[in-house]
Amino acid sequence: MNHRYCATLLAVLLLSSVHAARCAVPAATPATTAEATAPANRWAIAIHGGAGESEWEHMDLATAAAYHDSLARALSAGSAVLKRNGKALDAVEAAVEVLEDDPLFNAGRGSAFAADGKNEMDAALMDGATLAAGSVADVQFTRHPVALARAVMDHTAYVMMVGPGADAFSLAQGLEQQPPSFFFNEMRWQEFAAIMRASGRPVPARPPGVPPPATPAGTASHAANIFMHRFGTVGAVARDNEGHLAAATSTGGMQGKLPGRVGDSPLIGAGTYASNHSCAVSGTGVGEYFIRLTLARQVCSLVEQGQTPQQAADHMIHSELPALKGGEGGVIVLAPTGDPVWSSNTLGMFRAREVAGSAPEIHVK
Ligand code: ASP
Repeated sequence: MNHRYCATLLAVLLLSSVHAARCAVPAATPATTAEATAPANRWAIAIHGGAGESEWEHMDLATAAAYHDSLARALSAGSAVLKRNGKALDAVEAAVEVLEDDPLFNAGRGSAFAADGKNEMDAALMDGATLAAGSVADVQFTRHPVALARAVMDHTAYVMMVGPGADAFSLAQGLEQQPPSFFFNEMRWQEFAAIMRASGRPVPARPPGVPPPATPAGTASHAANIFMHRFGTVGAVARDNEGHLAAATSTGGMQGKLPGRVGDSPLIGAGTYASNHSCAVSGTGVGEYFIRLTLARQVCSLVEQGQTPQQAADHMIHSELPALKGGEGGVIVLAPTGDPVWSSNTLGMFRAREVAGSAPEIHVK
């Protein structure tokens, strides 16, 4: 363990305990009506902001603090819904929208770029109570792709819409539209440019409306190398006071992907799944492996067969996923009873959880 890594870890631990102390619910605080009537399977929520390797090796204290604050904001947006007796489905959507708005994460604003320099965003959500689901892939203009997935679920007879048809549906639904420059993030572009150069492919022109880079290309590409092995997808799983489960995932996908490539995040059963009979799952990692393993559904199948959520998650992430060479990533999992759990086979995974009556728990590593 090197010195820098120890310093980061220490700072993160300190930050986590400060935040936990700030957010802790004193024992004497009177319960709200919702909390007072909560069944044994009380409300709970977990979120993730991606997993990976290099970013965690090189993360400085300021970056760790920024991630910590973002996760805290997203967790609190989701738990606020559950505290007022709202639905798990609304909680996961609220949490994911906060992460989509944050350029630190590879979803919504801050999304990765396809090889043609465009953002093609994927998102899904699923209602564990009804098995209703909605998803979108390769959308380019919707500020909150997860809200578009919700609109597909609520306002069509379909589960999934893709590309220009999904963009047109988004407009027709009155969802907020934004130009490519809104989603653009310089760090993410430099990471993308480095990946394109490393794979011998041309770096396309910057998106329309985006100014030239402030730093010389050589410096930026060097900086980008430290971020080349990470997955910044975001997701959430929640259980409401009625005991219903939900899951949501949103991503810009893999940097430098061929236009038209779709990952696991919007595929029900691969990167996203929820059923009240087993569990809710949101994943992050190399999507192609999650798709081939139908990983999210497999975690829930193992729970149905009697494994604990932790056992099921660990089996898929530490045995099945790496058994396919290159299978890397992590999941957050929540069952009808018990606390949210997580598992990852990478150096780090941004994640956080909160359960009714307990302080939030936030992990930047
Ligand atoms: N799973 C996502 C995908 O393959 C990437 C990620 O998790 O960051 O599109």
